[in-house]
Amino acid sequence: MGSVGAKEIPVLLNADGRRIDGRRLDELRQLSITAGPLNQADGSAFVEWGANKVMAAVYGPREVHPRHLQENNKAIVQCRYNMAAFSVDERKRPGLDRRSQEISKVIAEAFESVIFVEEFPRTSIDVYIEVLQANAGTRCAGVVAASVALADAGIPMVDLLPSVAVGKIGGAIALDLKKEEDNFGEADLPMAMVPQSGRLVLLQMEGHMNREELSQALELGVSGCRQIHEKMKAALRERYAPSSANPSEAAA
Ligand code: UDP
Repeated sequence: MGSVGAKEIPVLLNADGRRIDGRRLDELRQLSITAGPLNQADGSAFVEWGANKVMAAVYGPREVHPRHLQENNKAIVQCRYNMAAFSVDERKRPGLDRRSQEISKVIAEAFESVIFVEEFPRTSIDVYIEVLQANAGTRCAGVVAASVALADAGIPMVDLLPSVAVGKIGGAIALDLKKEEDNFGEADLPMAMVPQSGRLVLLQMEGHMNREELSQALELGVSGCRQIHEKMKAALRERYAPSSANPSEAAA
């Protein structure tokens, strides 16, 4: 541990290039995705990613409320990202703050660009993301969960939307930051990508990176998104065609 004033700053990268949890720079945290855990929603998914636990539920296409938001030529996509009061170490004040509003907006815009919204005029597709336990990267976990939930609801989309945060820690570019890395690192860059085309539909940045670091980070993020995409597809296969997801089970 180093220290600045009274604050303890953990060493984020050791001499062997390992991170505080032993991961390499290009390694994801453990990710598990369950499609369809909720009975009441049209579609749902639960994601456990490192210490993050995130539930997503989708309703729609359905009637728009309030009515004046209705669009004659397409569906609107509404998203509510919410962090439970008990999701973090220091109890979070319940309700929508500026951060949740911003995250809800960028996630809704990301999905609006991949859902075939023209097919459902005058309707709303509603995405609810509830963060039950948070440890950095919750907006990305929310996008992954919501994307699988949208597919579970049968909403037609160009593709699933894998998402991950890349960052800079101890001067190096790293995949999938956990909380200490997010808090004490030099930069955090959440992204979401359409796997088919490589198009980025969500890209934010906090902190500083130079041009070369940014392109390295994007490259690392793309490879992370490709791995996450495979897990998203596997979760949907497990729900809709469990025998093909696990051939040994089918043989048993
Ligand atoms: N966090 C917190 N309280 C808050 C907001 C965030 O403790 O009110 C923590 C939480 O662990 C979160 C992390 O800080 O995952 C990083 O937050 P950020 O705003 O970067 O969003 P995220 O990385 O979760 O998408």
